[in-house]
Amino acid sequence: MRSERLALMSPSPGTHRELLVYRFGKAGTGPKVYIQAGLHADEWPGLLVVQHLLPLISEAEIQGRIKGEVVVVPYANPIGMSQNVFGYVTGRFDLTGTGNFNRNFGDLYQDTYRQVDGRLGANAQDNKQLVIQALKNTVADLPSDNEAAALKKILLGLSVDADYVLDLHCDDRTSAHVYCVDVQHETAVALCQRLGFRYLFTEDLNGIVAFDGTHLQPWHWLQKDFPDAGLQMPPLAVTIEYRGQIDVEDSMAADDAGKLFGFLMDQGIIAGDAGAASKTEVWVSSLQAVDTVFAEAAGLVLYSLPLDTWVKRGDIFAEIVLLDSEPNQRIPIRARTDGYLMGLSHRRLVRPGDQIAKIAGQEPLSHRIPGNLLQL
Ligand SMILES: [Zn+2]
Repeated sequence: MRSERLALMSPSPGTHRELLVYRFGKAGTGPKVYIQAGLHADEWPGLLVVQHLLPLISEAEIQGRIKGEVVVVPYANPIGMSQNVFGYVTGRFDLTGTGNFNRNFGDLYQDTYRQVDGRLGANAQDNKQLVIQALKNTVADLPSDNEAAALKKILLGLSVDADYVLDLHCDDRTSAHVYCVDVQHETAVALCQRLGFRYLFTEDLNGIVAFDGTHLQPWHWLQKDFPDAGLQMPPLAVTIEYRGQIDVEDSMAADDAGKLFGFLMDQGIIAGDAGAASKTEVWVSSLQAVDTVFAEAAGLVLYSLPLDTWVKRGDIFAEIVLLDSEPNQRIPIRARTDGYLMGLSHRRLVRPGDQIAKIAGQEPLSHRIPGNLLQL
């Protein structure tokens, strides 16, 4: 295990932050895996999963079982982790105004296209290496004129040539789930079964994408531009949602780490047999069929059904208690689709527009805005 510390640009006199990076195996000897946790810096379960995962990978390295390279960033967002506002860490958006830490990684496609156009030949492996080098060049040329942009550039520099990108997040009070692009859903189902996750959300690569999609989008479009070049998308880039924000427990994280390690064995990145995966039946929903429910009034939200309940359209699963009306007035919240109630909020005082639930259905919903990934 090698570690290094990468300095971010200083945001203010007398301060500086750095990323810690662990490297295992040897570059060029097999697939490259990139794992990071806490890109949304107030999403903590993945941080603990990584702490349990690191010794497993280190042990595998000592035993010579790593068939390639594994790069782990145990906390991907030291900027967000430092955003402590009166005792609360708010790590989803950059308080300096650059937006969501998991969006806007820059356009990797246009510049890469310009570099490879006219240079791709008949050998698919050579073409892959050409594209990877062009992607690295593109990332190296990305602007880094503020601390958040510099952070994103460093993260991409570590991951842009990875075959597997595993980005560890969580949600509010939510069942474990995975986001993947639709063309990778088979591998993502295998991941869910290994992890014992019941829910998988699929999306396309159009429009704004998160960290995982940033790695796939250029390949997706280059495949269309150069259909004879034999370009293959990297095998998997996903966002793994390790339940809710406060689901941070040693036993759970150790179990999760063991299963994630098992997936690396399943994929042949680490030698060994992880045994049979779980028989978990994975409920696959396109993102257009996942209803994100928002509060329509200010008040206290109360849930009448537990996580993972199957609801039908019209079922009441929550109420908002109005505090400035007649005593104890309540607005019922009804499901707008048939599906599993798999996401709730851990906040209780809500305002109009706050997200209060997720229902994973299978019918595309007309009120969903395509490509509007609100919660990764
Ligand atoms: Zn997140």
